[in-house]
Amino acid sequence: MAGRNHLYIPGPTNVPNEVLNAMHIAMEDHRSPIFPQLLTPLLQDLKKIFRTETGQAFIFPATGTAGWEIALTNCLNPGDKVLIYRFGQFSHLWAEMAKRLGFDVEIHQETWGKGIPLDKLEARLKEDSKHEIKAILATHNETATGVTSDIAGVRKAMDAAKHPALMFVDGVSSIASIDFRMDEWGVDGAISGSQKGFMLPAGGAFLAFSQKALKATETSTYPRCFLDLRDQMNTNKDGYTPYTPNLPLLYGLRKALDLLLEEGLDNVYARHYRLAEGTRKAVAAWGLKQCAHPGFESNTVTAVIVPEDKDARHVISTAFSKYNISLGAGLSELAGKAFRIGHVGDMNDVSMLGAIAGVEMALLDNGFDIKAGSGVAAAIEYYRATAK
Ligand SMILES: *Cc1c(COP(=O)(O)O)cnc(C)c1O
Repeated sequence: MAGRNHLYIPGPTNVPNEVLNAMHIAMEDHRSPIFPQLLTPLLQDLKKIFRTETGQAFIFPATGTAGWEIALTNCLNPGDKVLIYRFGQFSHLWAEMAKRLGFDVEIHQETWGKGIPLDKLEARLKEDSKHEIKAILATHNETATGVTSDIAGVRKAMDAAKHPALMFVDGVSSIASIDFRMDEWGVDGAISGSQKGFMLPAGGAFLAFSQKALKATETSTYPRCFLDLRDQMNTNKDGYTPYTPNLPLLYGLRKALDLLLEEGLDNVYARHYRLAEGTRKAVAAWGLKQCAHPGFESNTVTAVIVPEDKDARHVISTAFSKYNISLGAGLSELAGKAFRIGHVGDMNDVSMLGAIAGVEMALLDNGFDIKAGSGVAAAIEYYRATAK
């Protein structure tokens, strides 16, 4: 089919042409005297994206899933108790990983569509007077349901309970697109990946750890090797890596960081809010519901619930085969019940309108009771009124 495949999934996201071009390089010697000139500034600038001055940034040739494992296995001890709220496929997978790695996982089930319940968290932490809980695993943006949790609120709950647990945050689909403040929120382990807000191919786990978390790595007895933070620290300090880095990805990251920092993080967050808000106006105009309950709506992905007599998979397959656009599927409990529209990364008003128009055509083709142009019209009015 002529034209681009229009990628409106919440990762991998569209890679800007400047980033694609930056990755088109001949391989280089990663032990050369000039390699640190690439790596050291990358690690410095990553800290700006995580909004940390006191923490330390890391790059692993891996994905976000490895980021979960890095936090768990470097900063905790075998069998430690960890607490997680499960309200979507990604928080589910993180909890399952922690179980498979032998941790004592306290899972609290929440409605899919809601985020971390701060009052319940505070009560649970106050009850844990012996401080048996060693870490809280917080999914900042649950990509499966389009739900954003309040991480500043998690910190407040922990402080109110005077609880010393480490706070690990999955920011794979929020960092570099939704407001994230590592130092201000007291995040001990911030986990992200290359293929969402960073606008790169998959293959990079980007992380930052607090000094408190790094101190815990020194005493952790959990067996680890490839994902050992200490090997990164020992080599990163001189501008090198413990094993062969993914060089094109590093060059792509250089360009992506330049683009993000040039736009300014606050502008990046505001752009994602507008992209999301236009999408939400369109969904409301179609008379459809979001999976996210009010107050939890994500600015990087919207999960749209279809009426009971419809199958969201048909919408996704029509959109792909007839209009060459990719939408996110409903995952696990939401399979067939929801489709997801990604609005993260290299997107603007007009590309978002393409997504909304494509969804609208696929909805009409599948017999949804909507008026042609209704969602697009709602989004157009919002984008016109709020464009600078
Ligand atoms: C995409 C995603 C992950 C998993 O990342 P991979 O790169 O596929 O390993 C984890 N958490 C969230 C919230 C995500 O959106």
